[in-house]
Amino acid sequence: MTEEPNDATPFLPDSRTLSALREAAAGCRGCHLWRAATQTVFGEGLKRSRVMLVGEQPGDKEDLAGAPFVGPAGRELDRGLLSAGIARDEAYVTNVVKHFKFEERGRRRIHQTPKRFEVEACKPWLDQEMDVVEPEALVLLGATAAKALLGSSFRLTQHRGELLDSELAPIVAATIHPSAILRERDDDARSAAREAFAEDLRVVAAALTP
Ligand code: SF4
Repeated sequence: MTEEPNDATPFLPDSRTLSALREAAAGCRGCHLWRAATQTVFGEGLKRSRVMLVGEQPGDKEDLAGAPFVGPAGRELDRGLLSAGIARDEAYVTNVVKHFKFEERGRRRIHQTPKRFEVEACKPWLDQEMDVVEPEALVLLGATAAKALLGSSFRLTQHRGELLDSELAPIVAATIHPSAILRERDDDARSAAREAFAEDLRVVAAALTP
């Protein structure tokens, strides 16, 4: 049996525009995750977006739709952005891993956290997105995204909602993944998590140049 590749780099196009990257990513076979997923879910948004939000990987709905943050977590993201005064159409949204990783339980597909080697394999796509968009603010959603870009020693619980010292962008911050709001045990806990998420995004919004 031939070994699976573990690097998206050979699939990068010569032309580094968002449309060329998106088209090339659709055919990426840089790791094994494309096999079970429906399609590549590339980032969405305009090149001139001032804010880039990076999640972990597409979920079930995103895998079927072929677009990031269109499911329940996407609705939480939209609420947070609205509350912080960041227009969704001014934001570029993407994930560190572009294919849905899951396990099947009956008819359900249950999210599985990507492993470090899968994140590393896929990262060339995110690096290209960041180079093309050059966002003023980079917001990392959840521990997988934060660790992928800030290093494995980064502790989200200690530094969420802070403006971080990083060369990745003029403004860099990390917060929870909006799906964490949905996993809270009851309405009160969900409301509190929603407000804390919006507050983290407000810190970013306040730091943007007027
Ligand atoms: S997860 Fe990333 S590296 Fe792996 S096949 Fe999909 S796009 Fe390529």
